[in-house]
Amino acid sequence: MANRPLPLGSSIAIIGAGIIGASAAFVLAERGYRVTLIDRDEPGLTGPSWGNAGHVVGSGIFPLAEPGIGFTGLRMLADPDAPLKVPAEYLPAIMPWLWRFWRASYGDAYETALKALISFNRAAVEESIALFQRAGMPERIRHDPALYLYESEASYRAALPHWKKRQQVDLHSTHVDADEIARLEPDLAPIFTRGVISHEWAIVTDPYEVVLGYVEAARERGVSVERGRVDAVTGRSGGVSVTVGGEARAFDAALIAAGVWSRELAQGLGEQLPVEAERGYNLTYPAPKATVRRPLVLADRGVVVTALKPGLRLGGWTELGGTRMPPNPSRWAKMREITDTVLPGLEGEPATEWMGHRPSMPDSVPVVSRSGKHPAIFYAVGHGHYGLSWSAKTARVVGELIGDSADQRYAALSIRRFGR
Ligand SMILES: Cc1cc2nc3c(=O)[nH]c(=O)nc-3n(C[C@H](O)[C@H](O)[C@H](O)COP(=O)(O)OP(=O)(O)OC[C@H]3O[C@@H](n4cnc5c(N)ncnc54)[C@H](O)[C@@H]3O)c2cc1C
Repeated sequence: MANRPLPLGSSIAIIGAGIIGASAAFVLAERGYRVTLIDRDEPGLTGPSWGNAGHVVGSGIFPLAEPGIGFTGLRMLADPDAPLKVPAEYLPAIMPWLWRFWRASYGDAYETALKALISFNRAAVEESIALFQRAGMPERIRHDPALYLYESEASYRAALPHWKKRQQVDLHSTHVDADEIARLEPDLAPIFTRGVISHEWAIVTDPYEVVLGYVEAARERGVSVERGRVDAVTGRSGGVSVTVGGEARAFDAALIAAGVWSRELAQGLGEQLPVEAERGYNLTYPAPKATVRRPLVLADRGVVVTALKPGLRLGGWTELGGTRMPPNPSRWAKMREITDTVLPGLEGEPATEWMGHRPSMPDSVPVVSRSGKHPAIFYAVGHGHYGLSWSAKTARVVGELIGDSADQRYAALSIRRFGR
């Protein structure tokens, strides 16, 4: 089958109703496709789409794998307070991904990933606001510049090349001193010497509520939302076969959007999709006695802070620990220490604990792509730290790949970069 645009009215199965699958379902239904959205659980409930920090980041252009990351990473692993962890028992399993990660961190590979992210990231906030509007939930997002905070002159200086690069690609920032930080965020402990406001930013009311909003809007456009575990997606002549709970069902096309769990479905197709779980930890204070007035990024601690509808949420970190191991409670204890240091007014307050699996590619570039194995199978996977931020863009690109065969336009996001 050639890569022809899929005719309107064709049937599409979407596997995974996290933020990526849910927003794609809405956009594909808007385009005029018959969509079935399938998740093994209730939409948005089990993946990181449920409890993330709610930031829509319009300046997230840097791959995690950067020049020098090998050294920085090793240093962080030796520091119990650093935001990067690799549990010893998972080290053998993660080695191939770490190898790819390191290879992506320098030379042409790094420049290629940076270029792809600059392009993909462009106008992420505007596109998100516009899609929320179309989905009938404009009140669930608001433009809100973020404040990056640095605790030392050295860490601020180390970050300056990033701010300079952002400026070069038309992303705006304002640098502030300790007095201005105290004025902007009176509940913070006076430990921050420098700050930078990043203007291309928004926050949502509650990331889970956003998934539900897209699902609801998709339903209104005729999308069928089903519960079932997808065991396999395979190509067949004239379409695809999706096996749900042991039963093979025929569709004209399928979109795999199952977060980090997409890897197994890709393996079934004989396709390389090196997506790994970057586990992140959150605390949410439902009735906080101290708060923040804008989204914060605690740059030295790998933690972000957001005032959301469910409460004040602090979280982040990266634990490369796969999908099967239980959460490590010591991470939440560390988050509490950070909270007490940064927002002393929260000390002793109750908070709910949560851990989620970011689906992360070694080069930080998501795979939004037609399968290399079958022309009617597509992927929208691997958004790492920015799945909410890039969901509107991804939904549009998925629509263009399926409806317009725009493969060439989005070659930088193709799964083919990992070989066949
Ligand atoms: C601590 C933390 C903070 C974060 N903060 C932010 C932030 O502020 N801004 C931002 O943009 N991003 C943030 N992220 C990242 C963001 O949450 C993710 O990138 C995003 O949620 C990924 O969405 P997804 O739809 O690809 O995957 P998921 O949310 O994992 O959804 C995948 C869905 O597929 C389903 N599924 C899996 N396998 C199958 C199967 N075989 N059959 C049927 N269904 C299946 C799952 O049940 C799940 O519902 C954060 C992540 C963490 C962990």
